[in-house]
Amino acid sequence: MVTGLTQIKLIKMNIKRFLTVNKYIIIILLVEIISILTLININTTLPILIFITVSYIVISLLFTVSNINSGNIKSRYFEKYAADIKPRDETIDLNNYEEKIIKVNAIIEEMKITSDDYINIHGFSELYDSFNNITKRLLNELNAAKIFKVNRNEFLGNVAHELRTPIFAIQLSLETLADGAVNDPEVNLNFLGKAVRQSNRLKELVDDLISISKLEAGMKLSKRYFSINNLIRETINELSGIVSNKKITLSLENETSDNTHVFADSERIKQVLINLIDNSVKYTLENGSIILKTTDSDKCVLISVEDTGLGIPKEDLPRIFERFYRVDKTRSRDMGGSGLGLSIVKHILELHNSQIKVDSETDRGTKFEFTLPV
Ligand code: ADP
Repeated sequence: MVTGLTQIKLIKMNIKRFLTVNKYIIIILLVEIISILTLININTTLPILIFITVSYIVISLLFTVSNINSGNIKSRYFEKYAADIKPRDETIDLNNYEEKIIKVNAIIEEMKITSDDYINIHGFSELYDSFNNITKRLLNELNAAKIFKVNRNEFLGNVAHELRTPIFAIQLSLETLADGAVNDPEVNLNFLGKAVRQSNRLKELVDDLISISKLEAGMKLSKRYFSINNLIRETINELSGIVSNKKITLSLENETSDNTHVFADSERIKQVLINLIDNSVKYTLENGSIILKTTDSDKCVLISVEDTGLGIPKEDLPRIFERFYRVDKTRSRDMGGSGLGLSIVKHILELHNSQIKVDSETDRGTKFEFTLPV
C-alpha cells in the first residue's frame, strides 16, 4: 500500500522530473504569457501570433546551438584522451608496460585538472565518470600484466639456475670419467654415483616443474570419498625406506575413526603428504620423530604433520610457500630440494578450497596443518 508520505514523495519526484525535462518549454510558455499580457491591449491577433512564433523559433534555435556546442566541446575533450590511450599496432610496444602505465597515470592526473573547466556543460560529469572508470581499469590491467611479466621472467631465471646446477655436476663427472678416471678403480664408482645422484635430482626438479605448471594451469581434480587414515598409513608405508635410513620414527596418531571419509582428490592429497613428510625427514636430525595426526573438526578433518627437526626462523615463515624459496639455500640444495615442494602443497590445497598453516620454532620443530571436508 502507498502511504500518504510516499505519495507526497512521488508527486515531488514527478514535479522535479517534469521541471528538469521541460525547463525550456516552461521558459517558452512564460515568455509567451508575458507577451500576450502586454499585447492584449492592442487587441490585434496577428502581432500576438507573430511574436509567439518568433520567440519560439529564437529560443529553440538558441537551445539547439547550445546543445551542439556543448556536444562538440565534450567530444573534443574526450577524443584527445581517447586517442592517447588507443592501442597501437607497433609490436615493439607490446611489452612496454612501464611506459604505458606512466602515460595512463599522466592522463588521469591531467583529466583531474582540466575537467573543472567543463563540469558545467550538460552531461559532462556522467561522461567524465565513465571515461575515468575505463582509464582506471586500464591502469589496473596494465599493472597486473607488468607483475605477471616480472614473475614470469623471475621464474624463468630461477628454472634456468636450478637446472644448470645438476647438469653442470653430471657433465663434470662424465668428463672426468672420459678423461681417464673410468680406468681408475678407486674413483670411477664415486664419479658414476655422483652422476646418478644428480640425474635423479634433475628428474625430481623436472617432475616438480611439470606438477606446478599443471596446477597453475588449473588442473581438474577427481574428487571422491576415501578414508584419510588409510591414505596416511599407505603413504607412511611407502616412505618407510627413507625414514629408516635416518633412524627417524614416523607414525600416525588418529583421533578420527577409520570410517571417516574425506571428499578430495586422493592422488593429490597423497602428493601433499609425501611433500610434507619428505621435508620433515630432510630437516629432522637422526633419532627425531615425525607424527601425523587426524582430528575431527567442524564438518572437516584436521590433518597435521609435526616434526622435531631444525625448525624455520620466524622471518622466513611468510615466504616458504613461494616458488624456489629456501630458508638455507646450501642446506636445502644439498638435501636435494627443488624449492618447489611447499608451493605445490599450497596449490593443491587451494584447489580443494583449503589452506596450509605452519607453526615452527628454530631447533624445536615444525608443524604443518590443513583441513579437508568430510
Ligand atoms: P625444498 O625442496 O627446498 O625443501 P620446499 O618448498 O619444500 O623446498 O620448502 C621450502 C623451504 O622451507 C625449505 O628449503 C626449508 O628451508 C623450509 N622447510 C620446509 N619444511 C620444513 C621442515 N619440516 N623443517 C624445516 N624447514 C622446512
